[in-house]
Amino acid sequence: LSSSEIKELRRDFPILNQKVYGHPLVYLDNAATTQKPSQVLEVLDNYYKGFNANVHRGVHHLSQVATDAYEEARKTVADYIDAGEDHEVIFTRGTTEGINLVASCFGKAFLKPGDSVVITAMEHHSNIVPWQMICEEKGATLKVIPFDENGVLQLDKLDSLLDDSVRILAFTYVSNSLATVNPVKEIIAAAHNKNIPVLLDAAQAVQHMAVSVRELDVDFMVFSGHKIYGPTGIGILYGKREWLDKLPPYQGGGDMIKTVTLEKTIYNELPFKFEAGTPDIAGAIGLAAALKYVNSIGLGRIHDTEAALMDYAMEQLQKVDQLRMIGQAKNRSGAISFLLGSAHPFDTGELLDKQGIAVRTGHHCCQPVMDIFGIPGTVRASFAFYNTAGEIDALVAGLQRAARILL
Ligand code: PMP
Repeated sequence: LSSSEIKELRRDFPILNQKVYGHPLVYLDNAATTQKPSQVLEVLDNYYKGFNANVHRGVHHLSQVATDAYEEARKTVADYIDAGEDHEVIFTRGTTEGINLVASCFGKAFLKPGDSVVITAMEHHSNIVPWQMICEEKGATLKVIPFDENGVLQLDKLDSLLDDSVRILAFTYVSNSLATVNPVKEIIAAAHNKNIPVLLDAAQAVQHMAVSVRELDVDFMVFSGHKIYGPTGIGILYGKREWLDKLPPYQGGGDMIKTVTLEKTIYNELPFKFEAGTPDIAGAIGLAAALKYVNSIGLGRIHDTEAALMDYAMEQLQKVDQLRMIGQAKNRSGAISFLLGSAHPFDTGELLDKQGIAVRTGHHCCQPVMDIFGIPGTVRASFAFYNTAGEIDALVAGLQRAARILL
C-alpha cells in the first residue's frame, strides 16, 4: 500500500483521528485489539436497525433474514480460512473460548491417566490454562516445547516430545509476546506423522497473512474477531468434520439439540452441536464484514505493508539508546517487544501514553515467557496496515524522550 492509499484507508477508522493528551493518537496496540472500520460498524447498525431477530427458530420474515445473514457469515469465514465445509466453522466468543471448547471436549473424549498434551513455552495463557485444567482432571501430563534465547522453538526436541503418550499438540502460529512466526506446516506434519492431531492458535496470524486450514492440514484452528477488525465477543473454531463429529458437545441448551425428552436428548449436527443458545448474531455478521473488508484490501498487500513497517521500525529503533529487543527470531510478524534500559516496562509505557502513543506493557498473558527471559514484562508496539512511518517516528521520538527521563 502506498502512503496515499494508507491515508485514504485511515478514513475508514474515525477513531484513529483523535488527540490524546493534546497529541495525535498513535495506536500501536493492534495485537491486543484492532480498530473497526466504518464498514463493520455500519453492518452492525443495519442489523440492529433493520433485521434483528433470533436465528434458526422463527418462521417469520425477520428471523429468516437474520438466519440467512448469520449462515452467510459462516460461509464468509469458511472461505477466508479455506475450510472445505461451512459446517466445520463454529462461532465462539473468541480464541479463549475456542481453546477451552477443544480442551474440554477433546479431553473428555480422549484423555486418560498417563496420557499427555504438548504445548510450547511461548503460548498465551489461554493456550496453557485450559490444558492444565483438563490434564489435572484426567490425570494427564502437560509437556512443553522450549524456545531459545531468540524466541525460536527448539524443534530438535519435537521428535522425542511427541512420544506414544501424546494425544494432542496445541500451539500458536504467531507469538503475541515475541512475534515469532512458527514453522507451522512442518510442526503439523511432524505431529501427523505420529497420528497426533493439532490445534493451532491463529489469533495473531489471520489478520497478517493468508491462512489455509486445508493447506496446513490442521485439525483445529481458533481466532478472535476483534483482532481482525471485527467486533469483540465473536471468534471462530475451525475443526475438521471427522474430529468435531467425534467430540461431545461443549454446552447444553437450545439450538444444539435435535430432540429433547425429559429422559434423553439427541444432539444436533454440526455446527449447531457446538452453538448452544442464542449466538452473537451481530458479532458473526460484523466479523464477516471485517473479513470482506480485509479481502477488499488484499491480505498480500496488508502483509507487505506491515512487513515494510516492521523493517522501518527495526531500523529506526536503533536510534534509541539502550533498547533491548525481546524476541529476535528472523521470521516475525505484527509486533516488536522490547525494554528500555533498566526501566520498568510500565514506566516506559506510561511516558509513551502521555505523548499519545498507545502500546501494551506487561507480560501480555505470557508469564512463562517473561519468566524464561527473567524480566517483569516488555513494551510491545504492534502494527496494523493503517499504521504509518510517521507513527514509527513518533514512537522513536517518544522513546528517546522517555529514555532521557527514566535512564
Ligand atoms: N492467543 C493469542 C496468541 C493471543 O494473542 C490472544 C489475545 N491476546 C489470545 C490467544 C486470546 O484471545 P482472546 O482474548 O480474544 O480470547
